[in-house]
Amino acid sequence: MITIDWKPNKQDKTPIYRQIIRYINDKIAAGDWPIGSRLPSQRAMAEAFGVNRSTIVSAMEELISYGILESGFGGGTRVASNTWSLRMSQPPDWNKYIASGPFRANLSTIQTINKMEFEPGYIRIGTGELSPELYPGRLVSKIFRSMPERIPNLGYLGPLGLPELGKALSAWLKENQGIDADASNIMVTSGSLQGLQLVSVCMLKRGSNVYTEAPSYLKSLQIFQSAGMQLSGVSLDEEGLQYWHIKEASNDALLYTIPTFHNPTGTVMSQVRRKEVMGFCQKQRMPILEDDAYGQLWFDEEPPKALKSMDKTGSVIYMGTISKTMAPGLRIGWVVGPEAVVYRLGDVKMQTDYGASSVSQWMMTELITSGDYDIYLQQLRTELKARRDYALAVLEKHFAGLATWNKPEGGFYIWLRLRHKVSMDKVFQDALKAGILLNPGNMYDYAENHAIRLSYAYADPEDLSRALASLAAMIEKHLKR
Ligand code: PMP
Repeated sequence: MITIDWKPNKQDKTPIYRQIIRYINDKIAAGDWPIGSRLPSQRAMAEAFGVNRSTIVSAMEELISYGILESGFGGGTRVASNTWSLRMSQPPDWNKYIASGPFRANLSTIQTINKMEFEPGYIRIGTGELSPELYPGRLVSKIFRSMPERIPNLGYLGPLGLPELGKALSAWLKENQGIDADASNIMVTSGSLQGLQLVSVCMLKRGSNVYTEAPSYLKSLQIFQSAGMQLSGVSLDEEGLQYWHIKEASNDALLYTIPTFHNPTGTVMSQVRRKEVMGFCQKQRMPILEDDAYGQLWFDEEPPKALKSMDKTGSVIYMGTISKTMAPGLRIGWVVGPEAVVYRLGDVKMQTDYGASSVSQWMMTELITSGDYDIYLQQLRTELKARRDYALAVLEKHFAGLATWNKPEGGFYIWLRLRHKVSMDKVFQDALKAGILLNPGNMYDYAENHAIRLSYAYADPEDLSRALASLAAMIEKHLKR
């Protein structure tokens, strides 16, 4: 994908259109824009370069006359050649190489979201991250200040991570989740995404089935598909995953579930359903991958304990993370499972990144053992609950006739289901034009839906309110057309 993050220098004596020609030519010659790449529209380029469209037209005409660019069918412009002269050596055919790797590209909506999240001026109404306003800066400074004396060195660590953190997590998981795990059952990862990645390349055969709730966060990623597995959606009701729809669980299948404050629907699997799911999977001898990214973020009452806490037969691989409760930038997560499993994952981890950041691991150790993490979580729950209440009131005001939604008891998300069919693509694009970045429900689902994943964790509540008001007006307008 071509991105333009440069502007011509208007003070320079070289005419603007010449500077643009040089810029484009340099990009092509350096292999950044391989042959066949499609350039943005003239309007988009004029905007990106901060120039008139006529300037773009002149630059394009000249590059086309050199044979560097060509106009394609349907009016687009593509890179045709990367040689000004025959003396110049050609870069490798990067487009061919780029298309060859086994890891699939992100969904294009997600690529857009990933890019636009860093553009100023957008209200992000679906971001799965705590607001910068909720960042506990003082607590983090305190912990960091106490660290220099505690860190003996910053060498490589063993396959399971920092032993002190393993011990701290073992005690904390027992206390908080009733999970009985020794440090030898716990591996520290660089975020829980790495846990998913390791499971996908270490434990499953190509062609095997990974069952998930439909919709599911996992469906928005290409991790398992890239490793040759297929995802199968299992429907969800207010008590959680309807496991009885899993028809045949072959020997190679796995169930991935987010039982507590599910992403994207906010659902909590009931205690009864948890027992049934565990029973079903044990009978089938099908492992469970339990993703508990949001479990600590409850509001009024604690949700049922993790599936892993009921696991007497070593059937569950459990994943936790600090990303949703405090700081995704620390890149710290943990995988809990039978020793044989964590050793296998740890062995591959050593071959891929040799361990998560030791600074982050020491920080996490201090955070847990000082007791500060638990105190912080209590405050965070209160703040998140207030944000949830505010978001629900705003929805009541603007979306009562337009959509239905859940009242989450924890986590970040409200699953807003529109009552009428509208093109979600159009809603996404129109919202973008209005400065609103949203997460369309389609990217998490197996079939088309008309839902939006809202998050009350990120946007400033007043911004969220304004964005939701204009989104409602936009959707109403679509319906009238
Ligand atoms: N699992 C779930 C359910 C998530 O929502 C996320 C973040 N969106 C992750 C895993 C990834 O988190 P991490 O930063 O720990 O890799």
